[in-house]
Amino acid sequence: METEKNTAAELKETLFAQKKHAAMRMSDADTAECNAFCEAYMNFMNTAKTEREAAAFFTEKLEAKGFVPFKPGMKLNAGDKVYLNNRGKAVILATIGTAPITEGVRLCADHIDSPRIDLKQNPLYESEEIGYFKTHYYGGIKKYQWTAIPLSLHGVIIRRDGEKVQVRIGEDAGDPVFYITDLLPHLATEQMKRTLATGIKGEELNIVVGSLPFKDDKGSELVKLGLMKLLNEKYGIIEEDFLSAELEIVPAFPAKDVGFDRSMIGAYGHDDRVCSYPAFAASLDVTAPAHTSVIILTDKEETGSDGNTGLCSSYLKYFLMDLAECFGANGRHVMSASKCLSADVNAGFDPTFPEVLEKNNCAYLNHGVCVTKFTGARGKSGTSDASAEFVGEIRKILDDADVIWQTGELGKVDMGGGGTVAAYIANLDIDTIDIGVPVLSMHAPYELVAKADVWSAYRAFKAFLES
Ligand code: MN
Ligand code: MN
Repeated sequence: METEKNTAAELKETLFAQKKHAAMRMSDADTAECNAFCEAYMNFMNTAKTEREAAAFFTEKLEAKGFVPFKPGMKLNAGDKVYLNNRGKAVILATIGTAPITEGVRLCADHIDSPRIDLKQNPLYESEEIGYFKTHYYGGIKKYQWTAIPLSLHGVIIRRDGEKVQVRIGEDAGDPVFYITDLLPHLATEQMKRTLATGIKGEELNIVVGSLPFKDDKGSELVKLGLMKLLNEKYGIIEEDFLSAELEIVPAFPAKDVGFDRSMIGAYGHDDRVCSYPAFAASLDVTAPAHTSVIILTDKEETGSDGNTGLCSSYLKYFLMDLAECFGANGRHVMSASKCLSADVNAGFDPTFPEVLEKNNCAYLNHGVCVTKFTGARGKSGTSDASAEFVGEIRKILDDADVIWQTGELGKVDMGGGGTVAAYIANLDIDTIDIGVPVLSMHAPYELVAKADVWSAYRAFKAFLES
């Protein structure tokens, strides 16, 4: 009996797919490297909370590393490093490889916008001596989650004189924060009958911004006046300047270790900065690639990728065409020979809500970066569905580099689903596959990831860029 059992165990080890917690595969040196990487990631998360702040962070780091602004027609040689900043909200960086550009580029696409709450163009008002901002939320949020938590304000205001004013309040110790109220349970009998989707409605996401009146016995809207006076003193703005502003409300929480064992990270906006930062870091570490590496850190993914800083626009295509022309090559041929990792987060299995994921085909925390062959909903609608051949290529690259990875689908069939930018890139005739870090509580004000998966994402991008 014992022999037979051993045989089955041996056979299983050979024939069955193995699932192993990353910790069982990582050496002490790996763990130390992983923790150091995640500490740098958390610093980035606290510095860059919006697409503009992330684009500025990356641009500053690129310039320090010798990347220069890309100019069409410029002379480029292997090892040269260029970048393109698209309107302060998206960045493309490229390191020129030793192989001819006609052999294609290795492309990593990530997005740096996250779900949040934007101010309307006439935001400031007063009601019963409390000052508020009116808002319109950005991306897919569960609105009730954004009440009764500390919030910060980020963005820019373009004044009537054309001057650009930067705003960032609520992140530094000593800064005030902002707030959206919810009803006390004692008086929420009627509200509690609403569904979760309408528990808090879009027009109820009003930001509390002050409560002191301008001291004058006469006149109305004295709290609004007091606030406008403060804003005028600090930023030199008048109310009409809000018309030409982009002001974003995000959670004021800093990124923190989660758990007694500190194995996880809680933060706002892991989606998709948890792929952006590792791809960016990997690109900086691959200084002499064979194939030209291109990392695109894009905006507008959370609202469907439309607009001139989103991937439905032509800015990536134009960049690749211009890059090809620097070598006297045809952009179309470069794109057809290129390969892309479309890097975006995936839903991790949440044991509290097991019913939405299919256990054999979903991503687990601590099982490494997740490769997703297809996304989409209702019969794979909206997917790019990577070919078996391309999945095979990526599988070999990851396994040869000993990257910890898994495969996973976003939810059970017909449970919902979602798409990524993969389809827009694949539509340029580029071999594309989805890859990303599993996240719990995706799109919540505070999302959860495992450190081993963040580090695995970095290692996956590095292996791909070196291929
Ligand atoms: Mn995403
Ligand atoms: Mn998202």
